[in-house]
Amino acid sequence: MRILSLNQISKKYNQAKEFAVNDVSFDVEEGEILALIGESGSGKTTVLRLIAGLEHPDAGSISLSGQVIVEGKKSVPAHERQVGMVFQDYALFPHLTILENVKFGLKKNLSDPIKVAEDTLKLVGLREDYHKYPHQLSGGQQQRVALARAIAPNPKILLMDEPFSNLDAMLKDQVREEIRQIIKKTGITAIFVTHDTKDALSTADRIAILHKGYLQQIDIPKNLYEFPVNPYVANFFGKRNEIMAVPREDGFHTTFGFITDPEAKKYKEKVRLMFRPEHGEVVRRDGQQLSGKIVKISYFGSHQMVKLADEEGKRVTIRTNPGRSFDGMERAFFYLWKYDVEEAF
Ligand code: ADP
Ligand code: MG
Repeated sequence: MRILSLNQISKKYNQAKEFAVNDVSFDVEEGEILALIGESGSGKTTVLRLIAGLEHPDAGSISLSGQVIVEGKKSVPAHERQVGMVFQDYALFPHLTILENVKFGLKKNLSDPIKVAEDTLKLVGLREDYHKYPHQLSGGQQQRVALARAIAPNPKILLMDEPFSNLDAMLKDQVREEIRQIIKKTGITAIFVTHDTKDALSTADRIAILHKGYLQQIDIPKNLYEFPVNPYVANFFGKRNEIMAVPREDGFHTTFGFITDPEAKKYKEKVRLMFRPEHGEVVRRDGQQLSGKIVKISYFGSHQMVKLADEEGKRVTIRTNPGRSFDGMERAFFYLWKYDVEEAF
C-alpha cells in the first residue's frame, strides 16, 4: 500500500537562481525504508522539509495516507501531519533528561505519556538511561534518543536527515543495522537522507537518487548498481572502467585485446565498453582474453585492486581475490563477464 506520494514537486528558495528541487515525483510504500541519496546540495534535505511541512513547494502536490497535505496554496500545518523527524544534529534538548526529551513530542491528552516514553526508550535499547542528560550519552545513544522522540507519537512516516554522518566508521556498521532493525520492528515507514552509497545500499529497501534537484532513478539497491539508467547514476555507485572498442562481426576489438561477442555486429563504428572492477576477473593465460601491463596492485584485505595498462598507457582496474599472487609478473590476463556497451560519437 502506498503511504506517501510526491507529484511533480518543485521548490526554489527566495533569491536562489536554481530550483533546489525540480519536478520530483515518487511514491513510498507502507513499511518501506527509502534512502534519498545525492551529493551535497542535490536537494535531499529540501525534499524532507517539504514532506514535513517546514517548506512549501512552488509546484506539485503531496499526499500522505490518502490525504492531500500539499496542493496549490493548501498546506496542512507541520504539527498536524503526523510526520516524525530526526535532524542531522539530533536536536535534543540539553537541559531535559532523555525521558523528558522523548515525552516532549507526545500529545498532552495521552493517558500515560511517561509509560509511552519509557516503552519507546526500551524499544531503542535505552532502558537504563531514562534520567541521564543527552551530554552523558555517546553519539550513537543520542541518536537513538532522537529516534525514540520521533517515533513515540506513532507518526505515519519517519524522516531522518543524514542519520549516520556523525558516527565514526567503526560504529557506523553497527548503528545502521540497529536502526534498521528498530524501524522494521515497529513497521514504521521511513525515509533517510545520506550521501554515502554504503549507507543506502546496506540499509534501504529502495533508493532514490537526486542530482541538482532532479530525481534520476528510484529502485532496489541491486538494480541501481547493476542497471543504472544513466552514467551519472552508474558513476555515483562506484568506479567504472571505460575502454574504447571497435565492433567486428564476431566481437569487439580493444587496445587490451579482442572480446568475442556475437552482439558486437549490432553496433557501428566505435563504442565504449563500461565495466566495474568486479565485473572482470584476472585469469591464467588460456583461450582468448584481454591483457595489460601491471601498473599497480593495491591490497585491501578482503580483495586486491589491480591496475592494468594498454600500450598507450590507458588504464583499467580489476578487482581480484586477496590470495592471488602477481610475483614476478609483468603482465596479467583478464576477462570480462559483464560490460555495458555505449555508442561513442
Ligand atoms: P542537500 O541536503 O542535498 O545537501 P539541500 O536541500 O540542503 O541539499 O539544498 C539544495 C539547494 O538549495 C542547495 O543549492 C542549497 O544551497 C539551497 N538551499 C538550501 N536551503 C536553502 C535556504 N534556506 N535558502 C536558500 N537556499 C537554500
Ligand atoms: Mg542536507
